[in-house]
Amino acid sequence: MKKKECEKCKNNFRIMYRVQYKSDKIWVFLCNDCAIEVRRDNEDYRYGGTWKG
Ligand SMILES: [Zn+2]
Repeated sequence: MKKKECEKCKNNFRIMYRVQYKSDKIWVFLCNDCAIEVRRDNEDYRYGGTWKG
């Protein structure tokens, strides 16, 4: 199984969430915990799918 590095916490995971969460509108991969964290009260948050390694 493949893993990806979370853009925020820099750990590697097999399941990642493709999201935008900053005003720069760049798609990044975040782990579940970080995706939940950045989603809170965030108008820039967009969900673009789940990646499974
Ligand atoms: Zn993370």
